[in-house]
Amino acid sequence: ASGTHVPAVVVGSGYGASVAALRLGQAGVRTLVLEMGQRWDTPGPDGKVFCGMLNPDHRSMWFKDRTEAPVNGILFLDLANRPIRRHAGALDRVNFPGMGVYVGRGVGGGSLVNGGMAVTPDRDYFTRQFPTVDAAEMYDRFFPLATKMLRVNHIPGHYFEASDYYRFARLSRTAAARAGFDTAFVPNVYSFDYMAREERGEVPKSALGTEVIYGNNHGKFTLDQGYLAEAERTGNVTIAPLHQVTRITREGAGYALAVREITPDGEVVAEKHVTCDRLFLGAGSLGTTELLLRARDTGDLPDLPAELGEGWGPNGNVMVARNNHLLEPTGSRQSAIPTLAITDPSREVFAEVAPVPAGIETYVSLYLAITRNEERGRFTYDPATDRAVLQWGGARAGITAASGTFDRINDANGTVYRYDVFGGGKAFADDFCYHPLGGAVLGRATDDHGRVKGYRGLYVTDGALVPGSLGVNPFVTITALAERNLATILHEGR
Ligand code: FAD
Repeated sequence: ASGTHVPAVVVGSGYGASVAALRLGQAGVRTLVLEMGQRWDTPGPDGKVFCGMLNPDHRSMWFKDRTEAPVNGILFLDLANRPIRRHAGALDRVNFPGMGVYVGRGVGGGSLVNGGMAVTPDRDYFTRQFPTVDAAEMYDRFFPLATKMLRVNHIPGHYFEASDYYRFARLSRTAAARAGFDTAFVPNVYSFDYMAREERGEVPKSALGTEVIYGNNHGKFTLDQGYLAEAERTGNVTIAPLHQVTRITREGAGYALAVREITPDGEVVAEKHVTCDRLFLGAGSLGTTELLLRARDTGDLPDLPAELGEGWGPNGNVMVARNNHLLEPTGSRQSAIPTLAITDPSREVFAEVAPVPAGIETYVSLYLAITRNEERGRFTYDPATDRAVLQWGGARAGITAASGTFDRINDANGTVYRYDVFGGGKAFADDFCYHPLGGAVLGRATDDHGRVKGYRGLYVTDGALVPGSLGVNPFVTITALAERNLATILHEGR
C-alpha cells in the first residue's frame, strides 16, 4: 500500500469504523481500512483462534510480558494472570496514572473481546448527553438499525431460570430483591441459541467454556462477521490488519498518513505513506484522540480545535465484589456472558452481574456498576513520549452511588464486601474501565455529525464522540450514532 492513494481511509475497525467502512463501500467509495491489530481468523496449534481466560498465552494480550486480567487475586490465589510472550494479542490495557483502560485489538476492535451486552440507553439520559441530536430520529431509526445489524438477541426466560451456568446471576437477583431492588435482563450479541446448544453438549463450548475477554471462539456475532464482512462484499473495501497509523498530515486537498506495518510478533515490516481525500477516524476514544492531539500539537494540523482531548470519562465504571454465605454458592460453572443487571434508579446505578468464571466455587458475586459521574478527564499530548496522556481525577461520585446500592444489599443479606479481588485491599475498583468515551466530543471538537472543526474531509466516527458517559454499555450507541452521522455525511457529500 506504500505510495497509494485511495478516496477514503478508515482508521481502526471497531464499531464506528465498521459502520463507516460499510456505508462508504455501499456508496461506491473505494475505502482502505487500516487496523493495527491482527485479523483473528487462523487457528493456532491447539485448533483455536483465541485462547481461554484460565490458560492465557501470547494470543491474550497486546505486547505484554504478563497478562493484566482485571480480577486477579480471588482467595488470594493468582488465578488468572501469568507470564506471556510479547505478541499482537487481542486485549490491551493502556495504563495511565490512576486509570487502566481495556481495549480490543484486531479486525473488529472491541467486538472481539467485549461482553456483548447490547443496551439502548435511556432516552432522557441520551438527550441530556446529546442535546443537539434529534432523539426521535435516533430512537425510531438508528437504534433499531444498529440493533438489527449487530444481531442483538435476548436470553429466553426459561433458559435463564434453568441453567446451572446462571445460578450466579439468580443468586444476585435474590440478594437484590431482599434489599428491594429490581433487576433487568440485558440483551446481547452472543447467540443464546448457540449457548443452549453448548449446554446440551452439541457444539464446542465458548461462553460456557470461560471464553470472553481474550476472544470467543464461537457464539458471539462480532464485527468481522457482520459489518466488516458486508463491507468487503461490496467490492470497494479493503482491510489491512497489522497496520498502525502513526501520523496524519495535510497533502493537497486531502490527507497523508504515516503507517507502520508489523508482524504478529512486532517486527516492523514496512513504513508506508498512504494518501486519501477523506479520512474517517475510528481508532476508539484513546486512538482517535491521540492521533488528533499529536497532529495538532506537533504542527501537522495546527488548526485543530482547542476542545480536543476534553470530555473523557470511563462511563462511570466501578467494579465491586461481595461475599456470599456458605449455604448460598454461586456455582463453579458460570457463563462468561452477563445477562442481568440490578437497577437502582434513585442513585442512577445500573449494576451488571458479572461472572467469576474461575471453574471453582469462590462465593464471590462480582458487579460492573455503571454509575452517573460528572467527573471528566482530559488528554494532553506529551512530546517527550509522543503519546497522549490522560489526566483523571477518580470516580468519587460513582463509588458513593455504588456503595449506596451495595451497602443496602449487604445489610439486607447479612453479607460483606470482598477486599481480595482487585488488589490494594479495596472493595470498589475505579482505577480501570472497559468503556472509554470522549476526547473528540460531538458538537465541541466536531460539528453535530462528527466533522472535525477546521478541516474538511476529516471525520471522527467512534466512541471519542461520546461525552464521557451514557448510563449503559456503549457499543449500541456508538454504532447508531455512526450510522446517523454517515447517513448525513454521504447524503451531503461532505
Ligand atoms: P474500538 O472498538 O475500540 O476500535 C478501535 C480500533 O482501532 C481497535 O481495533 C484498535 O486496534 C484500532 N486502532 C487504534 N489506534 C489505531 C491506529 N493508530 N492505527 C490503526 N488502528 C488503530 N461495550 C458494550 O456495549 N457492551 C459490553 O458488554 C462491553 N464489554 C466490554 C468488555 C471489555 C473487556 C472491553 C475491553 C470493552 C467492552 N465494551 C463493552 C466496550 C466496547 O467494546 C467499546 O465501547 C467499543 O468497542 C468502542 O468502539 P469504538 O468504535 O469507539 O472503537
